[in-house]
Amino acid sequence: MNAEIIAIGSELLTPYRQDTNSLYLTEKLNQLGVEVIFKTIVGDCHERLTQVATLALSRADIIIFMGGLGPTEDDLTRECVAEALQLEIHRDPQIIIALEERFASRGWKMAANNLKQADVISGATVLPNPNGTAPGQWITGKYDEKERIVLLLPGPPFELKALFDQQCFERLRAKVPRQFIATRVLKITGMGESQVDARVAPIYTRCTDIDTTILAGAGEVQLHLKSRSSSLEAAQQAVDELVVRLEEELGDLVFSDNGDSLEQIVGYYLQMRGATLAAAESCTGGLFSERITSVSGSSRYFLGGAIVYSNELKAALADVPASMIERHGAVSPEVARALAEGIRYRCEATLGVGITGIAGPNGGTPEKPVGLVFHALASSTGTDVVERKWPGDRQRVRRFATQQALNMVRRQLL
Ligand code: AMP
Ligand code: MG
Repeated sequence: MNAEIIAIGSELLTPYRQDTNSLYLTEKLNQLGVEVIFKTIVGDCHERLTQVATLALSRADIIIFMGGLGPTEDDLTRECVAEALQLEIHRDPQIIIALEERFASRGWKMAANNLKQADVISGATVLPNPNGTAPGQWITGKYDEKERIVLLLPGPPFELKALFDQQCFERLRAKVPRQFIATRVLKITGMGESQVDARVAPIYTRCTDIDTTILAGAGEVQLHLKSRSSSLEAAQQAVDELVVRLEEELGDLVFSDNGDSLEQIVGYYLQMRGATLAAAESCTGGLFSERITSVSGSSRYFLGGAIVYSNELKAALADVPASMIERHGAVSPEVARALAEGIRYRCEATLGVGITGIAGPNGGTPEKPVGLVFHALASSTGTDVVERKWPGDRQRVRRFATQQALNMVRRQLL
């Protein structure tokens, strides 16, 4: 079975609010083996909402509407869905009583427009809302000869979650043929999206029963694998087998196959080796340290370091000779090396990281363009410096730089 999720609310079409409910519902539906095939966002407009509802009824088995169940003029979901289903609406006296009681228990008088929340599409099962006034509705029936399940849920996330978990999840399970979805995510760094795809596509295209999506971010490629089966074990086994083959092909370019972030993986390795880390950051302004310390327990291996934006602090906090900066410039392999070695020495760490570069958008020159970053890693066996010219805006360049530095630490500890 498949589903379409429809988020209703004009605020969701502005830059200020996001539809987060559909992410929650998608996870729950996937647990039931239901695939989400469409997600739609529509504003509080009678004509467009009815149009979207009619289209969804023609193409999905389960249609979940959320939002627009409030008491105000712009809450149109009930009437528009009824119109699309060609069903009547009636006002349910039981709901009116429940609403009145809810208001009375707080010492409030119910306003007349709240009565609208007692409107029920004929044949619907009313789903009490434990956290709000708008009850949900569950409608099953034939639409154009095809069986459909239609759900109306409130928009506020804490109401939607409670109502879905308590009243819809098991009801849906009883209706949905037993199917399981297993997913795995492989995370790769040190290689671009098209190169990764060229290496792995010949493997996954032979597995026609597994959906593969490749996603690229700054310095990280993710392979999302999804398999469906009538048993969870079989679905899991299918993705696990593909993971093994992909890992064989990609080797240690894969840093995670269970959802862990690069900073978490680096943390595991540092702990396993009993090693410590310190960092002197210029162009990343602390982002490397932020990522390392975003992992709980990082105090066991991350000692600290310094943000050395000015030349004076590069000298004062990481022992970079002023003459070196004068001769080679602050953005140079020499300074990156000195930062890594200096901070390692100062902090008495097993490993020292130094990052210096031009994040942009200003400050680039023909010799040293925006995006040029030097990443250094100092250890007891010497210091590696990697030069890269990262693409993108300031944020992306900084993200790329931290990803590269983290990966250098990971590879050092492999
Ligand atoms: P409504 O049920 O349309 O009155 O929505 C009430 C509030 O719930 C809105 O102002 C939003 O803040 C929130 N909301 C509605 N739909 C969503 C959604 N799809 N994802 C996250 N929040 C939502
Ligand atoms: Mg609304």
